[in-house]
Amino acid sequence: MSEPLVGRMREFGETIFAEMSAIAVRTGAINLGQGFPDENGPAAMLEVAVEAIRTDGNQYPPGPGLPALREAVAEQRRERYGLEFDPATEVYVTVGATEGIASSVLALAEPGDEVIVFEPYYDSYAAVIALAGAVRRPVMLRPVEGRFTFDPDELRAAVSPRTRLILVNSPHNPAGTVFTREELQAIADVCRERDLVAVTDEVYEYLTFDGAEHIPLATLDGMRERTVTVSSVGKSFSVTGWKTGWVTAPARYVRAVQTVKQFLTYATGGPWQRAAAYALRNELPWVEELRKSLEAKRDRLILGLEEAGFTTYRPQGTYFVQADIRPLGFTDGMELARSLPERAGVVAIPTQVFYDHPEEGAHFVRFAFCKKDEVIDAAIERLRKLSG
Ligand code: PMP
Ligand code: GLN
Repeated sequence: MSEPLVGRMREFGETIFAEMSAIAVRTGAINLGQGFPDENGPAAMLEVAVEAIRTDGNQYPPGPGLPALREAVAEQRRERYGLEFDPATEVYVTVGATEGIASSVLALAEPGDEVIVFEPYYDSYAAVIALAGAVRRPVMLRPVEGRFTFDPDELRAAVSPRTRLILVNSPHNPAGTVFTREELQAIADVCRERDLVAVTDEVYEYLTFDGAEHIPLATLDGMRERTVTVSSVGKSFSVTGWKTGWVTAPARYVRAVQTVKQFLTYATGGPWQRAAAYALRNELPWVEELRKSLEAKRDRLILGLEEAGFTTYRPQGTYFVQADIRPLGFTDGMELARSLPERAGVVAIPTQVFYDHPEEGAHFVRFAFCKKDEVIDAAIERLRKLSG
């Protein structure tokens, strides 16, 4: 029998998150792999979803999203970043950021077009670029003085006459970098000079530490008109299972995204949209508390990992830490991550799966710290065995 899967998807197997979370369930290991919190989001927000399910929230919402959520998103972009979007034509609700990114790439990249991504990159980017028949062009993020960054000359060199899009994720998963204004300016300069459209993934927009400021690329001069911004409810409000996100962009880009999204899923789950609108309007103080608690958890995990023998990179955002495994005598993060549940009863993500050049990331594993303190402590206790 011939392989049923289309050729352009054959390089993609099961996602690393599914694989590693299944190992965690099977072995009972502590799961610091897939990034999901082990505590609930704000109670009143959860109630809004429950109430919608109990009453009149169960039929198709409008394809572009509930007006209340589109308005709440427009308000959030205005109040937090000074960006104006018309909720009727410039905000569009998607099934998580994942579908926002997928429908943007499918809508904007022709087969054969090139799409720039910062490597390591979130796993769904490569798959949707392949689905579009486009070609990814990675630009490497390398540690410089403990922080992952890129060389603007390498970015420039990656642009060709076929380049159409650049995908920008900040705060960055898995590197933990929050791009500075200078880094964003370098990206904006290239976009303007080479007439590129930017698709930004800002799902960790609230989760930044040590005073690092999340700056949307769309706020830079000349960028609002060429940026499709994607965010979602999952990380900010600890509801990663709700899969409710949004795209903000000039109307012509939103129309393009709509043309694709409406045939992928038509609409996005109604109860979650109601609750997301409520949360954006009422629960930002809760998010600030989450941010602070994650900053402390980051420090707790980093301290423990260092004591256990890893070298760590202190993220300015997200809820992930990159750990270099070489001081413990390991060199292959894939091998270590696959054996870690047996060796130590802990699950981590081998960072090399986010690379086109695995040799650059082979010695890293990624640990999530969006977990209760006692879970982090128990994982550290177990990881100490590695050096013993
Ligand atoms: N982008 C990044 C960088 C992520 O880490 C995640 C995590 N799930 C997503 C997108 C997906 O977001 P959503 O669950 O809203 O689809
Ligand atoms: N964003 C989450 C992470 O990086 C995983 C999301 C998923 O399972 N697709 O861990």
